[in-house]
Amino acid sequence: RDDAGAGLLDGLNAEQREAVLHSGPPLLLVAGAGSGKTRVLTHRIAHQLATGRVRAPEVLAITFTNKAAAEMRERVEALVGPAARAMWVSTFHSACVRILRREHDVLGLRSSFSIYDAADSQRLLTLVTRELGLDAKKYPAKVLSSRISALKDELVDPDGYASSSGASAGSAHEFDEVLSAVYSRYQARLRQAHALDFDDLIMTTVNLLQAFPAVAEHYRRRFRQILVDEYQDTNHAQYVLVRELAGWHRHQDGDGGRPVPPAELTVVGDADQSIYAFRGATIRNILEFEADYPQARTILLEQNYRSTQTILSAANAVISRNPDRRPKRLWTDAGAGPQIVGYVADNEHEEARFVAEEIDRLGDAEGVRPGDVAVFYRTNAQSRALEEVLIRVGLPYKVVGGTRFYERREIKDAIAYLRAVANPDDDVNLRRVLNVPKRGLGDRSEAMLAAFAERERLSFGAALDRADEAPGLGTRALTCLRSFGELMAGLRELAASGAGPAEVLGAVLDRTGYLAELRDSDDPQDGSRVDNLAELHAVATEFEQAEPDGDLGDFLERVSLVADSDQIPADDPAAAQDATPDQGVVTLMTLHTAKGLEFPVVFVTGWEDGTFPHMRSLADPQQLAEERRLAYVGLTRARRRLYVSRAAVRTAWGVPNEFPESRFLDDVPPDLVDWRRRESSMAVLRSTGPRPATTRRPAAPSAGGARFGSATPRPAGDVPSLAVGDKVTHDAYGLGTVVAVEGGGANAVAKIDFGADGTKRLLLRYSPVTKL
Ligand code: ATP
Ligand code: MG
Repeated sequence: RDDAGAGLLDGLNAEQREAVLHSGPPLLLVAGAGSGKTRVLTHRIAHQLATGRVRAPEVLAITFTNKAAAEMRERVEALVGPAARAMWVSTFHSACVRILRREHDVLGLRSSFSIYDAADSQRLLTLVTRELGLDAKKYPAKVLSSRISALKDELVDPDGYASSSGASAGSAHEFDEVLSAVYSRYQARLRQAHALDFDDLIMTTVNLLQAFPAVAEHYRRRFRQILVDEYQDTNHAQYVLVRELAGWHRHQDGDGGRPVPPAELTVVGDADQSIYAFRGATIRNILEFEADYPQARTILLEQNYRSTQTILSAANAVISRNPDRRPKRLWTDAGAGPQIVGYVADNEHEEARFVAEEIDRLGDAEGVRPGDVAVFYRTNAQSRALEEVLIRVGLPYKVVGGTRFYERREIKDAIAYLRAVANPDDDVNLRRVLNVPKRGLGDRSEAMLAAFAERERLSFGAALDRADEAPGLGTRALTCLRSFGELMAGLRELAASGAGPAEVLGAVLDRTGYLAELRDSDDPQDGSRVDNLAELHAVATEFEQAEPDGDLGDFLERVSLVADSDQIPADDPAAAQDATPDQGVVTLMTLHTAKGLEFPVVFVTGWEDGTFPHMRSLADPQQLAEERRLAYVGLTRARRRLYVSRAAVRTAWGVPNEFPESRFLDDVPPDLVDWRRRESSMAVLRSTGPRPATTRRPAAPSAGGARFGSATPRPAGDVPSLAVGDKVTHDAYGLGTVVAVEGGGANAVAKIDFGADGTKRLLLRYSPVTKL
């Protein structure tokens, strides 16, 4: 059997091989981007299966996205065959859902419990704040939601929070008290609705394992080989989950009896690629692994197999500026490769045009296929300009994550119906669709019924069935409620009779009149809503074909768990139509979703201070460090060709803003970059002269954010005529003195000294500058 494993060691270097062969104590594999960490995990699983050291059902592998999980499963299957299917390869969330669905009984949960996403949970929080009579302006659902989420990441439940914050009573802690009240009520409401929010999935699983030793033992017996990719982005709850499952902790404590020896645990990661601190991930888990697991063995990898030396040098130069990091030596024998190409565009449309032209040119000159190319940006909103140009020039593309298909109103409505069908106690979803489409059930009727439910300690759904008993409802409202109740009952019967999710969805759209209303509408947007619903129906049909035994609950679970990177299937029909089969399509995605992936050609766009690094990070050194890691992640996705570009003026929220060059680009050694265009035409207009040494703001502007230019360019006649020595005021920079003027009329550029804010070159037509 060892022969069977030997072949799996061939494509590995000595350290990688050591990591694959390691057995016994926990193993930490730390290394920079592209050094084969994920490859080691895949090969380790395959090797263990091939040599019979572990059986497929004993493997639990955790990846960061569902897409990464599917890829890992596929690779292992390719290496060792279909026997591998019984492995658990999934995200933390999916693994927890699987455990919770099996163990729902001991928790008193229905097996078809609902999973609330961020929007659902905010809606529930809005209800809760209303019930508690809180001022929604003072306590916005969004803020409460992120605070509660952070508590759950730390495994702090409502009681725990109440006792910790109770000590600090006083008016300064009013917020804590409110949060405490909201948190307990929110949890109670979730409970009542048989629903868990995203963070609950992890916290509840941890509670389950800690409170029920027999359950914990079952899973410890089962998972003998636990592997976690991207360990630097785990949060505290996930850390504890792994600890509970692996069982080293118990072992160490000399737990009585010790029925199950600890599992083999392998975690891999790179502290420089931690980019989810804003969601509660903590770099501590990887830095302190050896303290958490004193038996641990650590292996470092130093050879990068992904990128050229040029790309690596640029990425290393950027990341090396971060404080408090452990320096790494990362090398490659791939050679220098082509220079990085830089481009400064006048605005985002021109930047997009550059990207599209370049993709086209690479296709002609080097046979680069659209599928080899990825374009990254900092925030989803930036995809639109790129999409418009790609559509115009006919380059096939897909947007990963940003389209937010499942966040469109009509999709959310349809899914809310399905959830309310699957789980009669799912109040939030039931109430969402109560009057959708309009059926004469206004806020008042809803409030009456809700009050009745509250008093009788019923779920909203149960109260609906007893609406006749609810006081204060008019006959008309009662009739409407009754027929709504019958509608839901009919749909539930259909689902119970074994109809697949597609059929139930079809019935929802027809019987509710939802589809008819959209079809009858003159609003063109409603037309595309119909298309989107048709697409959801196609998703459901596909699901039925892929999982003939799957029921509505399974479908909803799948839908709830689509991670960002999975929101649009790789074979997005819209994109596939345009694509020549083996050419693939250009991938557009945010830098965050790009983690773990690689592409032969990568464009990283929007290198502007205020865009990337993001505006809100400029004043906070920790956030800035995270942005820098994001830059490192972005640059290291490229295998051979890397492009960096920025727009001198970018329109955000309808306002054109003038942005200085990203401070990160300044850190890239100049000889690595071939600037196709170094200055935007607004700057080129002014005759010669070197680029000003500093065009950078020292810190974020105060409240109000991104207002570095006027809302619209002024007519040429209104451009202030300035002379050296004039005093001016600028909306963002304040008082300044003109030190130089170049060009005239619409193209006039002034160099203005703003004191502490530095000296700026401003195209006056776009700048909110007033002469004093
Ligand atoms: P990231 O930090 O970005 O997640 P990683 O460390 O997980 O990167 P992988 O994605 O596993 O790196 O590997 C990067 C690339 O290098 C992949 O294409 C992989 O197949 C290749 N690779 C890794 N190790 C070797 C090797 N020993 N020989 C040849 N190619 C390798
Ligand atoms: Mg990886």
